[in-house]
Amino acid sequence: MAHFTRFEAGPAADWPTWEFAHPAFSRPTRGKLFLRERVRLTGMEVSLNSLPPGAAVPFLHTHRAHEELYLFLSGSGEFVVDGERFAVQPGTVVKVDPAGARSWRNSGEMPLTYVVVQAKADSVTCDTIADGEVVKDVAPW
Ligand code: ZN
Repeated sequence: MAHFTRFEAGPAADWPTWEFAHPAFSRPTRGKLFLRERVRLTGMEVSLNSLPPGAAVPFLHTHRAHEELYLFLSGSGEFVVDGERFAVQPGTVVKVDPAGARSWRNSGEMPLTYVVVQAKADSVTCDTIADGEVVKDVAPW
């Protein structure tokens, strides 16, 4: 069995067409693609997201056990955690503890695209460099 799973998400310009059936809403959420099942992740959930201009996540949410990392790729928006509001733009990285009540909106003229990584808080067991091991095989380039 291969030690990897590959998936082509396509260009970010196509991300708004994705639909996700959120159990809390009668209509599907557009512009969200979860990757856990597609690439068989076992220690994290990752989603690719595109929020159109003028759109907002219409609720605050927390998590029971997972921390989240939001990595903004394009567009501009506003984020709120526990009542503290701040701007987000390409390159903004926001880590939110499980208990942080969060929401965000697109305040710009372009789609707000971002990646969300979700993993169990306090689950990293060692420094990431210490977890890596160089193998004997030579890289093909
Ligand atoms: Zn979340």
